[in-house]
Amino acid sequence: MADGSVVKHSHHGDAARETRRLKVEEDIFARNDALADVNRRMLAHAGTFAVNLMSSPGSGKTTLLVRTLKELKGRPLAVIEGDQQTDLDAKRIEATGVKAVQINTGKGCHLDASMVGRALPKLPLEQGGLLFIENVGNLVCPASFDLGENKKVVVVSVTEGEDKPLKYPDMFAVADLVLVNKIDLVPHLEFDVAQLEANVQRVRPGVKIIRVSAKSGEGFSEWLGWLQRR
Ligand code: MG
Ligand code: ZN
Repeated sequence: MADGSVVKHSHHGDAARETRRLKVEEDIFARNDALADVNRRMLAHAGTFAVNLMSSPGSGKTTLLVRTLKELKGRPLAVIEGDQQTDLDAKRIEATGVKAVQINTGKGCHLDASMVGRALPKLPLEQGGLLFIENVGNLVCPASFDLGENKKVVVVSVTEGEDKPLKYPDMFAVADLVLVNKIDLVPHLEFDVAQLEANVQRVRPGVKIIRVSAKSGEGFSEWLGWLQRR
C-alpha cells in the first residue's frame, strides 16, 4: 500500500512537471517567433531574400549550396552555415568567395531565430541579394523554428528512403519547395523517385518538387529559376 501511494504521488509530480515543460516549450516558441519577426523586418529592410535549407545529414546540402552559389555569381549572396561542430562546411562556402557566418550549435540540433539574428549584422545584406541559411542536418526540430526566412526548402536525396516524408511529416509539411538531390545516382540504386514524390505530395499537397544533382547540374536551371523569381 505504501508503495502504491508513493507511485501515485510520483505520478502527480510527473503531471505537474509535464505541464511546466509544455509551458516552457510554449514560451520558447513564442520568444522565437518574436525574434524571427525582427529578422524578417531586418531582411526586408535590406532587400535580401532568405532561404532556409533543411535536410537530414548527408543529403548533399552543402555541395548543392556550393554549386548554387557558383552559378549565381554576380548576384549579392551571403550564407549562414549551421553545424553542431566544425567550420568545415563554412570553409567550403567561403572558397566560392561568398561571405559565410558559421554558427556552431554544440549540442543544439537546430538553428533558432536568436542565433540567426546575431549572424545577420556580420553579413553583407544587399538590395536584391539572396541569403542562404543552411540549417543543422536534422529533419525534426528545425521544422518548428521560424528563422525569419522567406522560404523553406527541404532537400532529400535518393540515397535516403522513399518513406522519409511519411516519417518526418512536420518537416515536409512546412516546405515551400522540395529538392530531390543526387538524382544522377538513381541508375545505380533501387530507388523509386515517383514513390518519394507521391509521399511528399501526401504530406504537402501541391508543393513544387525539383529533381536535382549538385554533381551533374541536372535540374539546376529550374532550381535557379525558382530562386531568381523570388
Ligand atoms: Mg552541410
Ligand atoms: Zn533541435
